[in-house]
Amino acid sequence: MKTEEADMVVVGGGTGGCFAAASAASEGLDVVLLERKSREEGGRIACGDAIKGAASLPDVVDRDYVADESFTNREVRRGIFEADDEKIEIPLPVTGKVMDRKRYGEVILEEAERAGAEVVYDTVARSVVQNGKVEGVRAIRKGEPVEYRAPMTVDAAGALSVLQDDADLSEATFDTNVKFTQFCSAYREIIEVDEPVDWSDALVFKPAEQLGYVWYFPRTPTEINVGLGFQMTEEPMKLVEALRRDVQNRDEFKNARVVNKLGAALPTRRPYDSAVAPGFMAVGDAAGHVNPTTGGGIPGAAKSGAWAAEVAADAVVEEDVSEDALWEYNQRVMHDFGKKFAATDLYNIFGTAHGVDELTDLVKAMPGQQLVDALGEGEVSMSLGLKIKTLVSTFGHWGLLRELNSVRKKAEEMKGHYAEYPSMDGFGTWKEERDTIMDDVYEITGASPKY
Ligand SMILES: Cc1cc2nc3c(=O)[nH]c(=O)nc-3n(C[C@H](O)[C@H](O)[C@H](O)COP(=O)(O)OP(=O)(O)OC[C@H]3O[C@@H](n4cnc5c(N)ncnc54)[C@H](O)[C@@H]3O)c2cc1C
Repeated sequence: MKTEEADMVVVGGGTGGCFAAASAASEGLDVVLLERKSREEGGRIACGDAIKGAASLPDVVDRDYVADESFTNREVRRGIFEADDEKIEIPLPVTGKVMDRKRYGEVILEEAERAGAEVVYDTVARSVVQNGKVEGVRAIRKGEPVEYRAPMTVDAAGALSVLQDDADLSEATFDTNVKFTQFCSAYREIIEVDEPVDWSDALVFKPAEQLGYVWYFPRTPTEINVGLGFQMTEEPMKLVEALRRDVQNRDEFKNARVVNKLGAALPTRRPYDSAVAPGFMAVGDAAGHVNPTTGGGIPGAAKSGAWAAEVAADAVVEEDVSEDALWEYNQRVMHDFGKKFAATDLYNIFGTAHGVDELTDLVKAMPGQQLVDALGEGEVSMSLGLKIKTLVSTFGHWGLLRELNSVRKKAEEMKGHYAEYPSMDGFGTWKEERDTIMDDVYEITGASPKY
């Protein structure tokens, strides 16, 4: 079998893999990135295409170039939540962007190459090379087996990565408590319409059956990313049919042409407790780095990719790729977006214990700002008048509101706990304390344990 050597092998040319490869190559490592797709198809990923902006991406790539090439809508100022005949508008704290995801994917692959990484297309990683520590991967490149050997392997292969099925991680801290019920199955289409929609400055959401939501994200006033997903704890939904029904029922989508379709799974769970093992790190979807309530995973994948590479670069230079040497990566994730995602996950658990109708009624009864506050995004306190209005409008949902409030308090506690994510020595005790908070949440909500 052909064998190739590098300092780092990165599996997957999505956001996590490209930022990892660009970052490691910038640090001077010899990096090879394996992508199963062809160069022509590289960068095509199932996505809603919405992000806050280029500033949410690490500057290891040329962010202006990424934005100029791929951000097709830079004026997203509101969220619209549609429930039955009602529309709730929420102003966005930061102007959002919708992009041409394929072009964005191509540009970040280009940027990884420009930084000095070798991008190898048409190459599927099948298994890991492991002698205690992970020492690379076995892959099939255009039908031929090739072994890629390196002191560091970065798993950026996305949700439900095959490498983690293959590797023996039983002796490592690496989180193997991963079940399909912690994922969401999602599907999207890009449609073109004749007339510009009059909400091209908005992200539109609607509750769907099975704890998911339908979205309409305008790439341009006449090109819309429409999609939906469902939580895999629930009964499976026929996503294509459900989306078709929804689109056909909207006047503004009359005569819409579907120009692209794609579906995928995404993790809607807390970040992996540890995403390191000797010689091995996972980033992005492969480590649960997605906001579990919105499904937004691009910034998490980009940041975790860059941070993993920075830590790995030192480890390779020091010739110590032990978990202890890589641990700083876990800390950087948890002390940054990890604590927020772990806290937000509790609202998902709250959701699994209630029906969509019950939750929709509650959301309809709440003023937009309070909704934002309830999800921990806002800081605005309510005036007395608004408080009274809220009390009146939420009449009939007070039990659920009280429960939501208790979950909110637990979410704050969880965030504080993740902010104290320890060194490797304190990991066991930290997990035990975290699990006690989780037990409280299951008791408050009556939800079945997610982990
Ligand atoms: C329908 C849908 C809508 C979404 N909407 C949004 C949104 O609007 N905004 C947002 O921020 N996030 C959104 N997300 C989440 C976001 O797309 C992901 O979190 C993000 O793409 C994760 O990046 P990644 O690099 O970890 O994985 P991916 O983007 O999945 O990249 C993985 C790469 O690895 C390659 N690969 C996989 N296995 C192998 C293998 N064995 N060998 C070689 N290559 C391999 C794949 O071909 C792919 O290129 C959405 C996800 C879905 C499914």
